[in-house]
Amino acid sequence: MPDVHAARGGITGTAPADIRRNRIDTVLRHSPLQPVFRALAAGRLAVLAYHGIDDRRSFAAQMARLARTARPVSLARVEQALREGRPLPPRSVLVTFDDGDRSLLTHGLPVLARHGIPAAAFVIAGLIGGDRPFWWSEAAFLVGHGGTADGLPPGTAPDAAVRLLKRLPDGERRRRLEGLRSTAAAPAPRQPQLSPEDLRTLRDAGVAIGNHTVDHPCLDTCTREESAEQVERAHHLLAGWLGEEPTSFAYPNGNPDPHAERALAGLDYRTAFLFDHRHDRRLPRQPLRISRLRVNACTTPHRFDTILSGLHPAVHRLRGGS
Ligand SMILES: [Zn+2]
Repeated sequence: MPDVHAARGGITGTAPADIRRNRIDTVLRHSPLQPVFRALAAGRLAVLAYHGIDDRRSFAAQMARLARTARPVSLARVEQALREGRPLPPRSVLVTFDDGDRSLLTHGLPVLARHGIPAAAFVIAGLIGGDRPFWWSEAAFLVGHGGTADGLPPGTAPDAAVRLLKRLPDGERRRRLEGLRSTAAAPAPRQPQLSPEDLRTLRDAGVAIGNHTVDHPCLDTCTREESAEQVERAHHLLAGWLGEEPTSFAYPNGNPDPHAERALAGLDYRTAFLFDHRHDRRLPRQPLRISRLRVNACTTPHRFDTILSGLHPAVHRLRGGS
């Protein structure tokens, strides 16, 4: 399972692990394989999967690079290619953001607008307009402040606790989270979320709004009914706020689920996205399971280049990454 919410690959830090990682990125970037992979990648579709924008300057440099070297396309353009059965142009890149962190609006949108880069944002409908934190941030905070629950004894590392919670049947995850809330020394800080008006602002500025469930459970840990309800309730909430039905979905944590997929097909969704660190075809074969590349706003330039070329994903898989 990809470690979505702990993954911070590419941060330029001074810890030994960061230094080692940066050295590997530099070696890969200058290896003779990089131009070979880059040439092959030109014939594939790159869908970049971001979360929040925690490093504005680095994100601006990444978008400048995309504008210069790739062909940014909109979600509507991807869906048009699928509808017409015609592959997207070479070097097509779609930029996407999961979870709807407010930094997309405050930090990301001005950069996207400056370069004329369209994007798509997959938002957690149950959080819109409120100030509840993402559940994984809340769980990590509570564990770090002495919270305990079954299977989460004192001393559990926050990242390990989140990984464990993601694997539990969803009802169990919710019960453990309640346990953490009632035992931690302090409640998690509130987190202002995007409002319905913010969603319309993003949409009108070229960021298509997609469905990312009501409250972000891993759908493969849900029952058939829970999974369908997560898709359908979020769909109707978004349609109400936007005045149009969403046509695209991103699986929470990237975990695909057949029950969710059936619900998406029933609502006439055109596209749904994974988080599997792969390119896809310029005409994706499985529109409800389109591959994406994992990237952070703080990914270093060397790593950004090798992610776009497909060399980083290939090495990641060779080393046993999921
Ligand atoms: Zn997510």
